[in-house]
Amino acid sequence: MSELNLILLGPPGAGKGTQAERLKDDFGLPYIGTGELLRKHKHDGSELGREAARYMDDGDLVPDELVVRMILDEIDERGRDGFLLDGYPRSVEQADALAEALEETGRELTAALLIDADDETVIQRLSGRRQCVKSGHLYHVLFDPPKHEGVCDQDGSRLVQRDDDRPETVKKRLNTYHEKTAPLVDYYDERGLLRRFDGTRGADEVNGHIRATLAMLKLEERL
Ligand SMILES: [Zn+2]
Repeated sequence: MSELNLILLGPPGAGKGTQAERLKDDFGLPYIGTGELLRKHKHDGSELGREAARYMDDGDLVPDELVVRMILDEIDERGRDGFLLDGYPRSVEQADALAEALEETGRELTAALLIDADDETVIQRLSGRRQCVKSGHLYHVLFDPPKHEGVCDQDGSRLVQRDDDRPETVKKRLNTYHEKTAPLVDYYDERGLLRRFDGTRGADEVNGHIRATLAMLKLEERL
């Protein structure tokens, strides 16, 4: 058994998405994002999707039990050698539900990877982002500025800040993140599953650390 059953944790702007992309390529792991998963089921009109749609249309949260069933289906279909789960769990209750459901299928989590970054770094990274209105090309006022301020290098269209990236919004997203995720970090730490990575480092360096950690985990499993 050398599955890599992983969940990803981390604040917005710490590079979780970038690392997920790399891990997907490095290890051939399917990426399971719960937002995408819900949209897919809704779009396909699957039984689970129709059930979820009823809650979403009423403005209610989709119950955990339904989300976990979607995740398990997806794992069953694509995750024979492991998976990268992003966006779930978001609470200790959900973490328990996931652990139980996995156990029923004879599997367990290998690790919870936390790509961490302090609030100051996150605010600087996100609030400096600019996007062109025409094609969505991305820039950063400090780290990847366009040749001419406020103008896209590739198509000359105007660069704007997305609402999600405004400092007030970023601060709010961070507060929500801390409130919800801090208990989860403790939860996985207590179970010896948490692996912490410094997301303020460059993407290559973080990727190197994660790969080394996963190689070690696989090795330990074989011993
Ligand atoms: Zn552009």
